[in-house]
Amino acid sequence: MEHHQTLGCIRCGKADLQKNGHSENGTQRWHCKSCNKYFQYDYRYNARKPGVKEKITELTLNSSGIRDISRILQLKA
Ligand SMILES: [Zn+2]
Repeated sequence: MEHHQTLGCIRCGKADLQKNGHSENGTQRWHCKSCNKYFQYDYRYNARKPGVKEKITELTLNSSGIRDISRILQLKA
């Protein structure tokens, strides 16, 4: 299992995260102890598809929050 770099909570942005097992496809699930949000970084898999990574980079450069990126890419958040 590869190591995942923690980017912070997709809701509140804090890095106060706790591992919460894995989803059926092996994706690391996380629990934010700050806002009690359970989530997983699904976008990591979509980021491997051509074009999406560039879109994320563009959104990041435009200072869009991670929640906005997830919403735009229509991912579970
Ligand atoms: Zn949170």
